[in-house]
Amino acid sequence: MTDRIVDPQAIKDDTVDETEVFDLIVVGCGPAGSAAAITAAKRGLRVLILERGSYVGAKNLYGGVIYLSILRTLLTDDEIATIPFERKIVRRNTMVLSGDRAITISVDNPRWVEDLPNAITSHRREFDGFLAEIAKGRGATLVLEALVTDVMPGDRSSNAKVMVSIGDGSTEVLSARSVIVAEGSNPRLLEKISGNKGVAPAFSLGVKETIAIDEATIDERFGLDNGRGVDIEVLGATQDVKGGGFLYTNRTSISIGLVVDIDDLAAKAQRPEDLLEKFKDHPSIAPLIKGGKRLEYGAHLLNEGGYHNFPGAPIGRVLFAGDAASTLLAAGIYLEGVNYAIASGIEIANLVADSVIKGDFEILKSLKKRVESSFIGDNHRRLAGAFEFASSQFAQQKLPRLANSFADKVFTVTDPEAKMGFSKAFKLSMKESRVGRGELAKELLRGFRLFR
Ligand SMILES: Cc1cc2nc3c(=O)[nH]c(=O)nc-3n(C[C@H](O)[C@H](O)[C@H](O)COP(=O)(O)OP(=O)(O)OC[C@H]3O[C@@H](n4cnc5c(N)ncnc54)[C@H](O)[C@@H]3O)c2cc1C
Repeated sequence: MTDRIVDPQAIKDDTVDETEVFDLIVVGCGPAGSAAAITAAKRGLRVLILERGSYVGAKNLYGGVIYLSILRTLLTDDEIATIPFERKIVRRNTMVLSGDRAITISVDNPRWVEDLPNAITSHRREFDGFLAEIAKGRGATLVLEALVTDVMPGDRSSNAKVMVSIGDGSTEVLSARSVIVAEGSNPRLLEKISGNKGVAPAFSLGVKETIAIDEATIDERFGLDNGRGVDIEVLGATQDVKGGGFLYTNRTSISIGLVVDIDDLAAKAQRPEDLLEKFKDHPSIAPLIKGGKRLEYGAHLLNEGGYHNFPGAPIGRVLFAGDAASTLLAAGIYLEGVNYAIASGIEIANLVADSVIKGDFEILKSLKKRVESSFIGDNHRRLAGAFEFASSQFAQQKLPRLANSFADKVFTVTDPEAKMGFSKAFKLSMKESRVGRGELAKELLRGFRLFR
């Protein structure tokens, strides 16, 4: 391996420019990486993005819903008007399953699909590709099939060095004033660069299937029209394993999947694909996907470490963004990763731009303050205990049983017997669900405090 600085546009044909030093090298062209590149390029920095995939989005599996309001701070109105989407989400559902029963809370809001939609479903190949094109349009250079194998972080007086293995197997060393690692949830570089210090990942496993169903059938089954869509987040979808489920409508397909706690999965000797099959067979889910043809199945890690895992300081000239910096918000009813990845890419690239433009290395050290004082820090701090609460036995097992049992008693007509009445129905449901009064009061108060 040679220690030299190359012009990335010439990486493939091996023409070397010994003088090239980038202001910023971004590792990974997911939403965090692209947002960082767009922001830095907009501020005049010379930016190189290195992406290991053969196309942008090739390696990126997720559920399917993207919350868009953060893009107002990154894109022009014309760019926003061309965001690729499958459907605009007009209805958000929270479903609670227990046995063969289900309760659904459904929120419809036609204003969510006006102007910039509140949320869309979109395929990552299209969405990530769209952001990457904007980064290129603003002057960033993107190299595909470029796997970063190591980063030497540099310090106040020396630039960072990035080792990259190109598609043909050759390795190059590039030099940069700063590096943003946006490698996603699998923290290979984070572990390598930090020497495993302070790395305490909290992983879950996500599994997802995409099921082809024609547009008219989806519209009819979900009561939709005009490109509108539905998202359904599901509690009680994972049998006795900690986790949750989701079902999202695309234009001509449905994304359905689970996110499960890896340790619990192993402890209960369960296979994620079996859990997904059971979820798909649930009487409230099966009719929604009936007759569909499986297009793809995939699995991916989620870093749900959240607030307590935020990096406190840069390592030399290296900063982390997106899932690599634990920005995914997994808090019960919220599963928001892409918008937080974008937000952290913007925030961190602005910090880097301040540092490069002023030639002041010390500015990078305000990373923690910068992230903490943004909405990323605010929301994560407020909801820091929500993941633990949502994973508790009370939220996962007892609450779904209690809610379904109570609804069952209230809505089942028992003629010729008299109706039970709410008070008796609730007491009986508590008994059946093995929830004590003290426990109920304590857990409801805990939940209220977390989300207030
Ligand atoms: C099953 C599942 C469902 C989800 N559902 C949703 C959802 O519906 N909505 C939502 O907002 N979020 C969801 N998420 C979370 C969301 O996918 C992530 O939060 C988001 O993708 C993070 O973006 P990122 O840019 O940080 O990382 P990523 O999107 O993972 O991008 C990282 C990029 O870096 C590249 N890369 C990695 N290592 C290297 C390297 N060494 N060299 C070069 N390139 C490299 C990868 O190829 C990839 O392109 C879900 C996740 C899963 C697993």
